[in-house]
Amino acid sequence: MKKTKRIIFIFLPLLLIGAITTYFYFSSHKLENKEVKNTMKEENPSKTLEVARETTDYQEKYKNDYQEIHYQEEKDFIKKINTLLDLNYKADEINKIYAYIKEENILKLLNLEKVNLDPYYQIKNFEVDKIPEYENYQEKYKTTLEEAVLKVNIGLDHDFYTQIQDIENKDEYTVLVNKYHSLGDYAPTDLKSLSYDAKYQLRKKAADAFEELVSAAKLDQVFIRPYSAYRSYTYQTGLYDRYVKRDGKSEADTYSARPGHSEHQTGLAVDVWTEGKQEITVKDAEWLKQNSYKYGFIIRYTRENQNITGYIAEPWHLRYLGIEIATDVVEKNLTYDEYYDLYIK
Ligand SMILES: [Zn+2]
Repeated sequence: MKKTKRIIFIFLPLLLIGAITTYFYFSSHKLENKEVKNTMKEENPSKTLEVARETTDYQEKYKNDYQEIHYQEEKDFIKKINTLLDLNYKADEINKIYAYIKEENILKLLNLEKVNLDPYYQIKNFEVDKIPEYENYQEKYKTTLEEAVLKVNIGLDHDFYTQIQDIENKDEYTVLVNKYHSLGDYAPTDLKSLSYDAKYQLRKKAADAFEELVSAAKLDQVFIRPYSAYRSYTYQTGLYDRYVKRDGKSEADTYSARPGHSEHQTGLAVDVWTEGKQEITVKDAEWLKQNSYKYGFIIRYTRENQNITGYIAEPWHLRYLGIEIATDVVEKNLTYDEYYDLYIK
């Protein structure tokens, strides 16, 4: 009797565990099968053929292609794939296009001759209509395709201050201002004075973040003060003209922005000096480099990125982006122009 009891005590739980495992194994398998079936149903390529037949766009010669092309729920889908087929894209290429390429790029494709897209499928920031420029750039500078895409997108295949575009999102804290993007005579509406001296102003969030930065620096025995913050279009005009008179245009362009192109005009940039000096000391610049992003600022112009920004290193020039983006820019070790193209645009 005792023996039987012991056996029951040992085997019953084992049996139970076995039963439960078996149950879950089969039920999860069932689930998998169901999912597979569902995706198959959704991707059933004959849906394209079905839909095409219901429209006046149906073309008998493309019957086999319709059968292979995965249907997409969007306006004028049949018209668009007809155009792609007319351009000699094969059905599997069209499936790839729809899997990897943004809608706006697909629309541009319709107006171009057939292009070889294979090298671009892994590059998320490429623009279809710039493909010839990417290839020229890559050929000329012997870069990777990825780098060519990035540089051309920024504008670097043209001289600074050429092909200038008007900035659309002037009021956004992530706005990109550089030698290819102009603010015009924009002025922010939420400027706030800095506590150091009311004549220095930044946009509200940037101003608050700057006060925090200054306090935190103090705790580390780093004493900094603003010496230039928001600058209007008119002010920048006077400043730049004075520099041009003094040093000539090409020299002035390396350290001063032309009016409309200064980050200071956004109210998101501030230049700082070491307290009691007319410069930033090496030690304080190092502190800023290590800590600014924690308060939402990046050092916008460095020695390493001057080929991209077109400015000499300015360890005193802080640009507000908010903590999250500033941290990400620093972690990814990118110039903001690059970061903007890859992650913000
Ligand atoms: Zn500055």
